[in-house]
Amino acid sequence: MTRKNFYATINLDRAANQRSDANWLTGQLNAPESRVVPVWRGQNLVSTGAEITMIDIDIAHMDGLTSEHNQPVLLGLVGETTYFSVDISHMENPVEHDVLGSQGEFADLRQVGQIMAPEQGNLLAYARGINYWHQRHRHCGVCGAPTLSEAAGHQRRCTDAACNAVHFPRTDSACIVLVYHEDKIILARADRFPPRMQSVLAGFLEPGESLEDCVAREVFEEVGVKLTDIDYQHSQPWPFPSSLMVGFRARALNTDLHPDPVELASAGWFSRDELKAITPESDLQLPRADSIARHLIEEWLAEG
Ligand SMILES: [Zn+2]
Repeated sequence: MTRKNFYATINLDRAANQRSDANWLTGQLNAPESRVVPVWRGQNLVSTGAEITMIDIDIAHMDGLTSEHNQPVLLGLVGETTYFSVDISHMENPVEHDVLGSQGEFADLRQVGQIMAPEQGNLLAYARGINYWHQRHRHCGVCGAPTLSEAAGHQRRCTDAACNAVHFPRTDSACIVLVYHEDKIILARADRFPPRMQSVLAGFLEPGESLEDCVAREVFEEVGVKLTDIDYQHSQPWPFPSSLMVGFRARALNTDLHPDPVELASAGWFSRDELKAITPESDLQLPRADSIARHLIEEWLAEG
């Protein structure tokens, strides 16, 4: 599998080897062609109008965007252009800012991401995800002292010299699995889903568990089905707020479904013909187009 999921970086060099090179960083922060991707309270700056595009800001404005708690974060390079991000959540109303207000509006990527170009959506998702982590790790989880950003925003260090703990951005792994039996797959519905939508099964990884163990446990917990042939497919960053979705396909050993009433409103087996016949008016709708859930289903549909 080489096809990437939406929000997976396509064309970005994260420049991980240069993050701790102070001279290089200073040079990039002062290079006139460098750009800034602002994030405000979890929202990204995008154009208004029918076609939604990412808005980035001239690096010359960086000093006016940072604050005590919000320092520049290096995202990386796209071609020759270096991109930084900065969280501007300290501003009460960024549309009143001289530069930001004239450029576009702040929007929730979950609403606009799927209609943006993937190479823009992935950069905005990355900016949103890493700033979310900074916002929630201003204090050391070991001793409670304040932490400071370092390595161009890719770690935080405790300011208590005796503690000196280093904290790294956290990603919560979740397994998502297309379960098949002959020409049918399991789709289930949770009450939190949009109306009519059903999806493949998913759940968070627990400590001490392999991804394959997680797939088997979640599916048995949610619908009472035992699995074999649990095979990794591909993954998707899902920074809403901080997940990585790890996609699998697995074969069911039994087909009787016992949906967990706490987790699921319903679950059922659906054939390729049923799923291929879905129209926007159907009582059954598939997951959103930018999701790995949809990608797993579409790949399976294309095989039959
Ligand atoms: Zn500490």
